[in-house]
Amino acid sequence: MADIIDGKMFAESLRAGIAAEVASLSFRPGLAVVLVGDDPASKVYVANKVRQTAEVGMRSFEHRLPAETTQEALLALVRKLNADAAVHGILVQLPLPGHLRADAIIAAISPQKDVDGLTVSNAGLLANGLPGLVPCTPLGCLLLLRDRLGDMTGLNAVVVGRSNLVGKPIAQLLLQQNCTVTIAHSKTRNLPELCRGADILIAAVGRAEMIKGDWIKPGATVIDVGINRVPAAETGKTKLTGDVAFAEAANVAGIITPVPGGVGPMTIACLLRNTLTAAKRIEARAPAVAEV
Ligand code: NDP
Repeated sequence: MADIIDGKMFAESLRAGIAAEVASLSFRPGLAVVLVGDDPASKVYVANKVRQTAEVGMRSFEHRLPAETTQEALLALVRKLNADAAVHGILVQLPLPGHLRADAIIAAISPQKDVDGLTVSNAGLLANGLPGLVPCTPLGCLLLLRDRLGDMTGLNAVVVGRSNLVGKPIAQLLLQQNCTVTIAHSKTRNLPELCRGADILIAAVGRAEMIKGDWIKPGATVIDVGINRVPAAETGKTKLTGDVAFAEAANVAGIITPVPGGVGPMTIACLLRNTLTAAKRIEARAPAVAEV
């Protein structure tokens, strides 16, 4: 039976470290979260982000806008937050209502405050191996892997999924760790065979239990990013499940993350970590306040 990673506990200790560092600073990092519309899942995510931001001692600025908000109004808010010295991180909760162009909104966020790591500027820095802000979920996966595996040099990593949000940045991070990285996607041939060669297997697909136990190399480390809502036979309600068939995979893997309780809790913890990073960089460059 695989060693099961407790992402909740890891995220808690990460947040405790962030809170201690925030308490030691001479200024208070601030995170602005923008929610447009009434998507129920987004509301829950934003409420959790706001609560956890306050819990680590940071300032939280919440902006809830109606679903009919125009592109111009949202862009104007982003520009205002870019210019606000009390705001060190800006997160626009995705998905946005259909009439808004998320790419243009993200592009308007100052790269220095882009704590979701989604601007082209931060993606480019990551691709070039330079310090920027890394998307939160991939960063969470990396922290879990580094904690368990330490040096990953020479390991074969297969990332299933190539989104800008998850698959591509995870692949870049693993490459920086000297892994030999393969990125798989919906057009990949012989996916089970490819996965069986992986020492590290990352599932970021969005298909419930697609990755089976016999796709996994014995002893491999399996990180399941997937969050899928499926009907629960027992209750008739829905339950969360990952992209990996957990019960059978846990019999083969050496280390595995569960869903829920694996990668999920790391995402907000890494958002806070990115906000702290952004705040320290911004404040280090800020001109000294004149003595009066
Ligand atoms: P996307 O839908 O943007 O990307 C999914 C990727 O999976 C695509 O690259 C797609 O390939 C690939 N794919 C789809 N079907 C197959 C298949 N049959 N075989 C191989 N590859 C396939 O999703 P995201 O990257 O945004 O998210 C992935 C999962 O992670 C989702 O379940 C999401 O809910 C979850 N997630 C979890 C987070 C967390 O905090 N834990 C945060 C963000 C996401 P192609 O490019 O060819 O279409």
